[in-house]
Amino acid sequence: MTSIAFDTSLRAETTLTARHLINGQWLGEALTERMNPARPGELAALSPSGSAEDVDAAITAAAAAQPAWAALPAPSRGAILIAAGNLLIERQGAIAEDLVREEGKTLAEAKGEVKRASDVLRFFGSLGWAATGEVLPSGLPDTTITTRREALGVVGLITPWNFPIAIPAWKTAPALISGNTVVIKPAELTPLSATHLARALQDAGLPEGVFNVVHGKGRVVGDALARDPRIAGLSFTGSTNVGLGLQEILNARRARVQLEMGGKNGVLVLDDADPRRAAQVVAAGAFGLTGQACTATSRVYVTPGIRAAFLDALVVEAAAYTSGDGLTEGTRMGAVVSRQQFEQDQAAVRTAVERGATLLHGTFDGDPTGPLFLPTAVLTDLPFDDAAVTEEIFGPVVAVLEVPDYEAGLAAINDSRYGLTAGICTDSLALATDFAARAQAGVVKVNRPTAGLDLNVPFGGVKDSSTNTFREQGRSALDFFTWGKTVYTGV
Ligand code: NAD
Repeated sequence: MTSIAFDTSLRAETTLTARHLINGQWLGEALTERMNPARPGELAALSPSGSAEDVDAAITAAAAAQPAWAALPAPSRGAILIAAGNLLIERQGAIAEDLVREEGKTLAEAKGEVKRASDVLRFFGSLGWAATGEVLPSGLPDTTITTRREALGVVGLITPWNFPIAIPAWKTAPALISGNTVVIKPAELTPLSATHLARALQDAGLPEGVFNVVHGKGRVVGDALARDPRIAGLSFTGSTNVGLGLQEILNARRARVQLEMGGKNGVLVLDDADPRRAAQVVAAGAFGLTGQACTATSRVYVTPGIRAAFLDALVVEAAAYTSGDGLTEGTRMGAVVSRQQFEQDQAAVRTAVERGATLLHGTFDGDPTGPLFLPTAVLTDLPFDDAAVTEEIFGPVVAVLEVPDYEAGLAAINDSRYGLTAGICTDSLALATDFAARAQAGVVKVNRPTAGLDLNVPFGGVKDSSTNTFREQGRSALDFFTWGKTVYTGV
């Protein structure tokens, strides 16, 4: 292994240095710099770039630790998760500041995310006490049937930068409570947040080797994780292209794979909605988290009677989401995560305008060498097949298109390769109910922003947004990390 030992006495809570965590040891030479997207020239994090050998060592440790971890009573496993969740809340302020520096979101958003990670650990920790399986009658005499859920073994997790502690937590917690051991590869841009999760688990008493972290490049570390035959299941969140590539690798060796990928989430605004309220719902979904959420609203269909009033109100809302340093008090919208993403966001707006769209609010001539602050953008007068309407942008950009009526709006919402979330703004219970039934999306929001999820209910999409087999979050998250067994017992 190429890694060097890390002096654990240096593990102060706000150190900028991330390390691999392999078999309980902090390892790796942290040479990869991550700069603060809001403050050019300011270092946000240092992390090691792992190799296939590091992945091999992490999987070996996880495989060795798994039988004893699975044999521990589930309530004892749960107690460690709950203790780790409590530690995250104790450390919430310091972790949130690190998260802002490496990801760019606002401090309020980052604190909310750390709280979410903590709640997720405590939720799944408490499930250690919950019954799993059923007792069922048999057609045979003197026989009882029970069903059990067994751990998969060693699972791999690959996570994106946009929720750098919450997503690792909501994959790790159901994996661990089910008796699996974990090797996780966090996003390169946000190595510190996953390190904080690892520290909390370690400090809560998680045995060595149960949770392992390998930082580095996706095509090196992520690829090695996906290809290793000891990985019984891989849960991935990230872009659709990368996800579909991983699916091929996992399918080839018939291992379990869960993919949560891109979105192009639409909202239908009907004449009977209140225009100001609808604009607030759309703006929160489109511009919250700098538009960098897989569930963000990025296309809106409006019926003719509300179009003008809705657009006026949306421009007012969009102007209120001014972008700035997430650590500065009062910042409404944080920085874009990277220069590449900043340029992509601006190019999407510029191209739409060049093709004839009207830019009602925003610009596309920001300087990507300065702080990565981007104004919100509201586009209208686009064709339905414009790339800004069909392709994921992942920035604070929303396209508004007119549809003649509800049916045309529903058809437009469903005319997408993605199907993660969909929303409707209406006072009509009948149309809201019809929309909930017919929208092709894993999550439907009525008069609520498309972004923003509860932790205790299933989450996932259809079409190219998700594998649409196993759901994340809530009790349904346990299905991916376990397999079912049916036991016949005669007396
Ligand atoms: P990404 O696909 O570039 O990276 C995600 C993870 O995959 C990272 O850890 C990366 O290093 C790794 N990776 C990259 N190439 C790999 C490869 N060849 N093999 C194995 N691993 C590889 O995505 P991102 O830029 O980090 O995140 C943004 C994307 O994530 C957006 O498309 C967004 O919609 C999606 N996302 C989806 C959800 C969801 O729940 N559906 C949630 C958040 C983000």
